[in-house]
Amino acid sequence: MSEALVQASYIIAALLFIFSLAGLSRHETSRAGNTFGVVGMALALVATIAYAVRFSHGPGFALIVAAMLVGGSIGVNRAIKVEMTGMPQLVAMLHSFVGLAAVLVGYNAWLESPALTGADARIHSVEVFLGVFIGAVTLTGSIIAYLKLSGRIPSKPLMLPGRHWMNLAALVVSAGLLGWFVASDGAAPIVLMTVIALVFGWHLVASIGGGDMPVVVSMLNSYSGWAAAAAGFTLGNDLLIVTGALVGSSGAYLSYVMCTAMNRSFVSVIAGGFGQEISLSAGEDYGDPRETNAADVADLLREASSVVITPGYGMAVAQAQYPVADLTSRLRERGITVRFGIHPVAGRLPGHMNVLLAEAKVPYDIVLEMDEINDDLPTTDVVLVIGANDTVNPSAEDDPGSPIAGMPVLEVWKAKDVIVFKRSMAAGYAGVQNPLFFKDNTQMLFGDAKDRVLDIVKAL
Ligand code: NDP
Repeated sequence: MSEALVQASYIIAALLFIFSLAGLSRHETSRAGNTFGVVGMALALVATIAYAVRFSHGPGFALIVAAMLVGGSIGVNRAIKVEMTGMPQLVAMLHSFVGLAAVLVGYNAWLESPALTGADARIHSVEVFLGVFIGAVTLTGSIIAYLKLSGRIPSKPLMLPGRHWMNLAALVVSAGLLGWFVASDGAAPIVLMTVIALVFGWHLVASIGGGDMPVVVSMLNSYSGWAAAAAGFTLGNDLLIVTGALVGSSGAYLSYVMCTAMNRSFVSVIAGGFGQEISLSAGEDYGDPRETNAADVADLLREASSVVITPGYGMAVAQAQYPVADLTSRLRERGITVRFGIHPVAGRLPGHMNVLLAEAKVPYDIVLEMDEINDDLPTTDVVLVIGANDTVNPSAEDDPGSPIAGMPVLEVWKAKDVIVFKRSMAAGYAGVQNPLFFKDNTQMLFGDAKDRVLDIVKAL
């Protein structure tokens, strides 16, 4: 394949990626968006491999095929096995690979330093240094995100004393090391910086609380894009630069949109919770919750004229969306108004609940966003909180010291009756107690959400 043909394929692939992002921004066009992305990536791979084979010396092709076979089979295996609730940690793990790749590409480019002099040599050093820095931050940040999202470590924020000063010091020292590296091209500054960047990435994500993890995931997505773009500069690969910049900027924009939806300061979250004062006290004693059973809930629903269902992560774990859809249609047949209230970060993925409900064929027009339903909750007879916790926690509004303080929530407690479906009194993802469970108009229906909804359907 000639160089011109490779460049032409890269331009077409880059355009397909842009069409892909545009397509993915709306339900109706998302399938086409996915197809554009797949075709663009296939074209980019073929062009890159053909180019590498033509210009490489030695066993280039065999190495690429071997690496692709190993990597591809691990990837296909993971993608087939992953549950939908496990997607965020899979994505976080994949981001860590991008970070690792950027570090390796940077070191390789430094070790194989081309014979450059003057400004060219300095620019090359800056590219290498920034590529390794962003890659190392992405690597450890994504590993911590993976561990937190998969529940292997607690999601509570790590609150080291003077943590913001430590972050600032890491940045200042790294800037100094950049100057040293550009001047000397020596091993000491780049190795020192790598160690600092690895610790910095770990600390940045460790100090962010569970409630802010959705923003962290999209922020790491953005970092992985910038890491890829930096690797693209180092390798002189235009497509990698364009693709990295697309991922970097769209991830940054998504983080900004999520911060706005969650009433968080973008700068505060990317700076590891800067400016947030969180009290991690054990919490107060709210007394005992009231427990109910499926038959009583069925009676309550029979008497109701309006019902709102607010699903959360527990509905996904229990795979309760099918019985919930069944319950919904039965209630609607009785003339009861049933609607869904969806919090922007319910579940573990943006749009998680919408996908589950669409899968169970719940009509789109009764699935409303949090902002669309909140005003109607005071005039609602019964709210069924199915496996949701943080997204319906009143302490986000009432307790300024709470890790989720300021996050907009579904104000379910304003309804006449609230039924909470969960298995125990355990806290939600953010690790904070939920005073909703102890309110006078709340009753707990313990057990697996799917089983309990089926029991109610039977009782109806
Ligand atoms: P939470 O994670 O706060 O709570 C889920 C609840 O479901 C738990 O309290 C759990 O209680 C219950 N549950 C689990 N399994 C079952 C089951 N089989 N049957 C019944 N109940 C069950 O859920 P929310 O959706 O309200 O909040 C989402 C949280 O995740 C937020 O903190 C958000 O910030 C975070 N997050 C969101 C992401 C996103 O993009 N949407 C990404 C990363 C994090 P019990 O164990 O007692 O049953």
